[in-house]
Amino acid sequence: MRVRIGLEIHVQLSNAGTKLFCDCDSEYRGFPPNSNVCPVCLGLPGALPVPGRRPVVLALATALSMKCKIPERLVFTRKHYFYPDLPKNYQITQFEKAGGAPVCLEGELEYLDTDSWEWRSVGISRINLEEDPGRTYYEGDILRSRYAYVDYNRSGVPLLEIVTKPEIPSPRQARMLVEYLLLLLEYIGAVNPRLEGVFRVDANISVEGGERVEVKNIGSTLDLEKALKFEAKRQTAIVERGGRVERETRHWDSARGMTKPLRLKEEEADYLYFPDPDLPPVEVGKDLLSEAIGILKTTPRSLFERISSMGIRSEIAWSIVSTPPASKRFLEAEKMVSDKRLLGRMIGVDLKGELKEQGRDLHKDSAWPPAERIAELVKLVERGEYTYDTIKGLVLPKLASNPLSPIQPLLPEKVDDVKALVDEVLKRESKAVRDYLSGRGKALNYLVGQVVRAAKGKAIDPRKAREELLNKLRELEARG
Ligand SMILES: [Zn+2]
Repeated sequence: MRVRIGLEIHVQLSNAGTKLFCDCDSEYRGFPPNSNVCPVCLGLPGALPVPGRRPVVLALATALSMKCKIPERLVFTRKHYFYPDLPKNYQITQFEKAGGAPVCLEGELEYLDTDSWEWRSVGISRINLEEDPGRTYYEGDILRSRYAYVDYNRSGVPLLEIVTKPEIPSPRQARMLVEYLLLLLEYIGAVNPRLEGVFRVDANISVEGGERVEVKNIGSTLDLEKALKFEAKRQTAIVERGGRVERETRHWDSARGMTKPLRLKEEEADYLYFPDPDLPPVEVGKDLLSEAIGILKTTPRSLFERISSMGIRSEIAWSIVSTPPASKRFLEAEKMVSDKRLLGRMIGVDLKGELKEQGRDLHKDSAWPPAERIAELVKLVERGEYTYDTIKGLVLPKLASNPLSPIQPLLPEKVDDVKALVDEVLKRESKAVRDYLSGRGKALNYLVGQVVRAAKGKAIDPRKAREELLNKLRELEARG
C-alpha cells in the first residue's frame, strides 16, 4: 500500500560556536549544570538578545543548499507557552505568519538513495531558526524523584527546524534523506551529528484512505525507519480490515519497537505569535549571503560526483564521502598518486575497515594517518615494490594502530631468495607435486599458498612465487 511521509527535523547547530542570541557555547554538553548560561539565555529582566552572526550564516547556507526562497529580512517571532525549561515563557522562533519571516520558504532537498545510487529530491516547506529550550530532568522516574531539576545550559542553543512536504515514499527513503541531511550539515560545519540528542525527528505518515498520524520525538535514523515501518504496517492492517485510521499523535517506544498513542489529545495550541520587539529584522545583505555561499563549496554531492568521476565505484565513493576525515585524506592524496582507484580502495575499504576493526572513531580526524603516508603506500604498489595484498595484510593494520608512524619501519622485510623458498616447499610437498605433474592444475594454487606461508610474514610477490614454481615444475616434468 502506498504511504506518504513528511518529516519535521530539529537539528542543533552544535558547531556554531555560540548560542543564537548570546555568546554562551553552542556545545553545552560537558558543562556542570547551569554553568553555560548568561542573563540573555536565562531570560533575566532587561537582558537583550542579539542574533549571532555564525548561527544566522549557517542557517542561510542550509537554506541555500536547498534552493530555498530566502526573504530580504529575517523576522524572529515569539511563541508563547509556559514550561520550567523556558525561562522567558516564550521561545524565540520563526513563523511564516503574523508578520514573521523564516529563513526559508519553499525549497528542495536532494539526497542520495544509497540503494539505487540515484539522486532523489523532496520538497521543503520551510526552515526555521530558533532557540532550544533548557532541559528538565528527574532522579530516576518522574513519580519518585524528590525534585524536578532544570538545567539551562542548553537554553538558547541554535536549532534548525526543517519541514519537508509529505511526499517521501517509504520509511527507508525517509531514513536516507535524514542521513544525507546530517552529512550535509556536517560538511558545512554546522553540526556534529554524533552528539547525543543533537537531532530529533517528528514524522507524519499516512496510507491511502487514512488520516495522517504523527510520530513524535525519534532520536536516530535507525529508529526513524523502524518507527515508520511499524506505523505503515499498523495503518495498512486497519485499512485492510475496513477500519479507519484516525488522526492522532503517537510516540515511538524504542525499547519495545512500537508506536503508542499519546494519552494527551494534542490541541492546536494558541501560542500568541508576534514578532519579537527586542529583535530588529536581520537584513539578508550581500555580505551575509556571500559568506553563506562560501560555506557551500564542499557538499557531499559535489564530493561524491568528483570522486566517482575518477572511475571509483559508487559504494566506495560513498564510503569515503560519508566519513569526512576519509574524504579529506582522499582529496589530498589524490594529487600525489596516479592510480586513483587503488587509492579509493585503500581509503574507502581497507584502511577504513582496519580502523573500524581496531575500534577507532572513524569520524575523528586524528584516527587517520596523514594523506602523504597513504599516498606513499599507493606509490609502493604502483612501482611494483609491494603487492596490494601485502600492504593490506601486513602494513595497514600497523598504520591503523599507529597513524603517525613513518612508513619505512612498517614495511615488511622482503623475501630475498624466492628460489630457496620454492625448493624448500617442493621438497616438502611431494604429494602436491605428483598431483600437479599428473595433470591436476589446481595443485599449483596450493603450492603458491605454501610458498607464501613459508615466507613467515616477510613480503613476497605471489606472482613471482608462481613463476618460480612453474619453472621448477617444468624442469621436474622434463626430467620425468
Ligand atoms: Zn547565554
